[in-house]
Amino acid sequence: MKIYAFEVREDELQDFENVKQRYNVEITTDSSRLDLDNIDKVKGYEAITILGHSYITREVADKLVENGVKYVSTRTIGYNHIDVQYAKEVGLKVSNSGYAPNGVAEYTVMLMLMTLRNYKASLYRGNCNDYSLKGLQGRELRNMTVGVIGTGRIGSCVIENLKGFGCKILAYDHAKKNTTTPGVKYAKLDELLRNSDIITLHTPLTDTTYHMINKRTLAKMKDGVIIINCARGELMDVDDVIEAIENQKIGGMGLDVFEKEEGIYHEDRRSDIISNKEMAYIRQFPNVVMTQHMAFYTDTAVSDMVDYGVKGLVDFAEKGTCDFKL
Ligand code: NAD
Repeated sequence: MKIYAFEVREDELQDFENVKQRYNVEITTDSSRLDLDNIDKVKGYEAITILGHSYITREVADKLVENGVKYVSTRTIGYNHIDVQYAKEVGLKVSNSGYAPNGVAEYTVMLMLMTLRNYKASLYRGNCNDYSLKGLQGRELRNMTVGVIGTGRIGSCVIENLKGFGCKILAYDHAKKNTTTPGVKYAKLDELLRNSDIITLHTPLTDTTYHMINKRTLAKMKDGVIIINCARGELMDVDDVIEAIENQKIGGMGLDVFEKEEGIYHEDRRSDIISNKEMAYIRQFPNVVMTQHMAFYTDTAVSDMVDYGVKGLVDFAEKGTCDFKL
């Protein structure tokens, strides 16, 4: 089988070498994103694998099929960069990645702790020899009620991690209405919003989750609520969030993702003029910790992402399906 791998980072190269042997496949690695300008590269390959910055739009899906591609895998868990329904309609088989949720879940708890303990302000002060304590008093996780929205693979792992801290845990997942999990209270969304000190988002980006954090949902939350988003930036209406930080409805945020992060996160843009006003403005708040979409980025996860990306394609060819078929 011949596979064309797009968006391959240097840190994935050894893993690609390993999977070539493991699955006995030919793989061409390329650091560029797949787009309409370079789509001819896929001629002669029956399968491609991508990361989150290659967009499989209707036009791209049509061209892939024209060029003989049958199978597409994204090495990411999120797949909102793929028009899955249309890709299937034109006969492409598509899979995402099933790498372990632990890295993202640990990172989520780290952002909760950093936010609760005012770590950003403390770190900045240390850089200019200001070792004062004023304004840095924190709160303890064990005294918090944490609301987990979306209890799939990552949300469930966050819940398991949180149990060790002794906090109360509320959960909401639209597909798990009558679920009972020890140590967790499944609640209606409104109940979770009204009673949580910390709210953490773990749903995919879909039509129903787009801007789920907005003026209306924020109004239901506790004053000073902490919001953690390690899922997708588009889950939050950024203008409503800014207003809520300014009027202190939101007391802190930990954001690993941001709306319109494409072209900024994962790039070195130090010398460039960046046009994302909201990102620049939110970043300056002392109670908002922002990172560059890196919750997934561990040694184990990267190696598993490459493995799942290639195994999915091989399974499609050999078995007609794969574990993470979309
Ligand atoms: P998953 O599919 O296992 O779980 C998602 C859960 O969300 C499901 O249980 C689903 O029922 C629930 N859900 C969907 N729509 C909902 C809604 N409207 N209201 C309530 N619940 C809803 O996915 P996962 O592996 O847990 O990943 C979740 C998301 O995390 C991914 O889609 C991706 O966008 C994001 N992610 C981010 C990073 C990162 O590095 N920051 C890494 C991996 C994944």
